[in-house]
Amino acid sequence: MALPVVAIVGRPNVGKSTLFNRIINERLAIVEDRLGVTRDRNYAQAEWLGRKFDVIDTGGITWDDGKIEEEIRAQAEIAIDEADVIVMLTSVVNGVTDLDEKVAQLLYRTKKPVILAVNKADNPEQRANIYDFYSLGLGDPIPVSSSHGTGIGDLLDEIVSDFPHDTDQKADDVISFSMIGRPNVGKSSIVNKLLGENRVIVANEEGTTRDAVDTPFVKDGTKFRLIDTAGIRRRGKVYEKTEKYSVLRAMSAIERSDVVCLVLDASTGIREQDKHVAGYAHEAGRGIIIVVNKWDLPEKNSTSAKDFEKIIRQEFQYLDYAPILFVSAKTGQRLDQIPKMVKKVYENQNQRIQSSVLNDLLLEASKLVPTPLVKGKRLRVYYMTQVRTNPPTFVVFVNDPELMHFSYQRFLINQLRENFDFMGTPIKIIPRKRK
Ligand code: GDP
Ligand code: GDP
Repeated sequence: MALPVVAIVGRPNVGKSTLFNRIINERLAIVEDRLGVTRDRNYAQAEWLGRKFDVIDTGGITWDDGKIEEEIRAQAEIAIDEADVIVMLTSVVNGVTDLDEKVAQLLYRTKKPVILAVNKADNPEQRANIYDFYSLGLGDPIPVSSSHGTGIGDLLDEIVSDFPHDTDQKADDVISFSMIGRPNVGKSSIVNKLLGENRVIVANEEGTTRDAVDTPFVKDGTKFRLIDTAGIRRRGKVYEKTEKYSVLRAMSAIERSDVVCLVLDASTGIREQDKHVAGYAHEAGRGIIIVVNKWDLPEKNSTSAKDFEKIIRQEFQYLDYAPILFVSAKTGQRLDQIPKMVKKVYENQNQRIQSSVLNDLLLEASKLVPTPLVKGKRLRVYYMTQVRTNPPTFVVFVNDPELMHFSYQRFLINQLRENFDFMGTPIKIIPRKRK
């Protein structure tokens, strides 16, 4: 489901990261690193008055050799391309600077709503100085103090009121999926082939909404939506080459997909960056298909696919549920399997299992393996019920949730997989104490 996206832009040191952390309530301060995946701190979910949205701190997407003007240009481009609402941040401490004017000028090009916020307005005297900022031509400046937390509510009110009305509407019968992966694995080539050789990619009109780059198509009577073909459209832009940006784009595509195709390159093998992207997809709880592209390139014998599969299973152990397809965008080999598999995974992640059936399974499972004994206390499992789909999530009522270690959850997940077709989808187990 697509959430509205808010981007924060502005010259260095005005307090973008501080504001970002304020808006997301610093929830990301705790970096989860269970799978060797460090969450990207430049992209996070936030909520205001019950409206959820994503926030991008474009200032965090830096260049190794970046000249400041080029960075600012790239930031503005990212915001214009990715966001629904743009917050231009500046600081009352230095007044209006040349760089502020440069940022503002870049933002004049977009039809998207731009909100001007003036940071470091920590006290009434400073708040009185914000009138200079009218000269930027971006409307009423909103004074905020990101470090003190004042004015943030007014800013968020303004942001939320500018959200497009239909961003989180989605037709129920359309399956959204995306191609993610590091640069050059062949994502665009696959997309182009899937959509038909001669399809013209719509040029980037200023102010087009993000949805315009999501391409709907129908295959064998099923409606699909291919998310974020922007990689093609945006080719050549300055920011396209930075790794941080490609991670950010992957995350935004993952958020909006039901099923994610993780594209690998058969000719180069698996790289570190492939693992980062895979980790995000897994953590997001989306359906996953591993697509090994460029299968026309490696020398092959009867065991090649098996060998490659073995390596994939070793490198992505937590993706043991993901099916693998060997394809070639160049020859078209097996590309028609992609929509078929996406549909299958979508069905799997949306299936609902009756509680009575689940409890038969629990009974059988307890006969197979006794529940663990932890410090002299035995785990008792009473009842299991599916509380949601996509991803399938099961609440298990037990005597003491502390006793239900990861290994027993893992065992239950395996039992579920053996008895039902959950190929391609993660499964979540939530232990609860029976009252
Ligand atoms: P960025 O480069 O735009 O991301 O800016 P940072 O968030 O890293 O902040 C730059 C500096 O300004 C840091 O030293 C912050 O502590 C400081 N700062 C941020 N917000 C405020 C504020 O509201 N008031 C004051 N006085 N300082 C702030
Ligand atoms: P992206 O950055 O992931 O979108 O990758 P592209 O689609 O731009 O492809 C990168 C390069 O790999 C291009 O030169 C493509 O022509 C080439 N390529 C893509 N798919 C295949 C394939 O299946 N086989 C071969 N041999 N080359 C491919």
